[in-house]
Amino acid sequence: MVWAAGIKAPDFLKDFGGLETNRINQLVVKPTLQTTNDEDIFVIGDCASCVQEDGSFVPPRAQSAHQMASRCFSNIVAKITEREMKPYIYKDHGSLVSLSRFSTVGSLMGNLTRGSMMVEGRIARIVYISLYRLHQIALHGYLKTGLIMLVGRINRVLRPNLKLH
Ligand SMILES: Cc1cc2nc3c(=O)[nH]c(=O)nc-3n(C[C@H](O)[C@H](O)[C@H](O)COP(=O)(O)OP(=O)(O)OC[C@H]3O[C@@H](n4cnc5c(N)ncnc54)[C@H](O)[C@@H]3O)c2cc1C
Repeated sequence: MVWAAGIKAPDFLKDFGGLETNRINQLVVKPTLQTTNDEDIFVIGDCASCVQEDGSFVPPRAQSAHQMASRCFSNIVAKITEREMKPYIYKDHGSLVSLSRFSTVGSLMGNLTRGSMMVEGRIARIVYISLYRLHQIALHGYLKTGLIMLVGRINRVLRPNLKLH
């Protein structure tokens, strides 16, 4: 099954304090992530429409939202301390698609590989699970992530095969 629902920001952003929006209600930002109409407002993630030097738009992905957060933080600090702000440049580290226990495929791009490297099967699955755990650690910390993993293991043994309700 191929799902191609696309993305659209909520309608209330259309008339949000006179800020510039595009046809899918994203707020248009400069490379510094400041809105075009108000330099005191920074926008990051899916609701930001940010154009890159080559004319392409930053894709609405978790890794871009994460990278934008870091650039936004350093730019706000630069603005407060009256230093020069830097443009946000999207770095694609690759993509992974998990099809549960059936398969995992993806491409990795990073410091270790020139261009992209296709991965699939067990290696792709290990990379996917490691990334997932790293995200959990970032959100919940080591202790809680360890407990979540332990409960998951116990549940695998205890969970009934039949769903009652
Ligand atoms: C099914 C699916 C799979 C995806 N898989 C991937 C993937 O494999 N890799 C990848 O890189 N990206 C993936 N993405 C995209 C990724 O999830 C988004 O790009 C990323 O989460 C954007 O981060 P964000 O912080 O901008 O928005 P979000 O993570 O969507 O956070 C927005 C937050 O704002 C809250 N919110 C919304 N409206 C209001 C309101 N009115 N008031 C207060 N709070 C509000 C929401 O509850 C939410 O918590 C996927 C997206 C979907 C839907």
